[in-house]
Amino acid sequence: MTVQSIRLFGDPVLVTPANPVTDFDKELRNLVSDLTQTMQAAPGAGLAAPQIGVPLRVFVWDIDDELGHLVNPTLDLSEEMQEGEEGCLSFPNLSFDTPRAFRAVAKGFNMYGDPVVVEGTELLARCLQHETDHLNGVLFIDRMNSEQRKIAMKEIRESDWFGLANQNGFVPKIKISPHNTHGQGL
Ligand code: ZN
Repeated sequence: MTVQSIRLFGDPVLVTPANPVTDFDKELRNLVSDLTQTMQAAPGAGLAAPQIGVPLRVFVWDIDDELGHLVNPTLDLSEEMQEGEEGCLSFPNLSFDTPRAFRAVAKGFNMYGDPVVVEGTELLARCLQHETDHLNGVLFIDRMNSEQRKIAMKEIRESDWFGLANQNGFVPKIKISPHNTHGQGL
């Protein structure tokens, strides 16, 4: 049970769809534990397995003092949308306006293989969508309108971590400012 390195934008694992979990075993419970500890150390509000280099459909969150995790999720979304800033732990110290559905219902399994349903609005809904996207190799920049994405890509290219991702297997340690993201990076 350890804090893992968080993969940065540019790492191929972040744009690769993750595989469904088939074994609800001790290894899966260790993964949920590693994800939770890594998210809390960052600190962040959510983290998906591909962000620590594990291509499985698992994510965790820590929102309103509630820890959660979900395995093999599917999402139902409201038509009503929300606006607001969103951060991602794989894009340290940046956040951008990202449109999301206001409400999300996620169906999946807990780490013991029991079916669970998680319903959320606002930040929890945003998190469920952001993390499920990670499992599909989709990033928050893909959810922005073209104008916002242009602004985001400029800031990303100018950031001090840009280009450091996964060079020769090296995963850099990036100090995340809890100030910039208010600990709400996903
Ligand atoms: Zn993210």
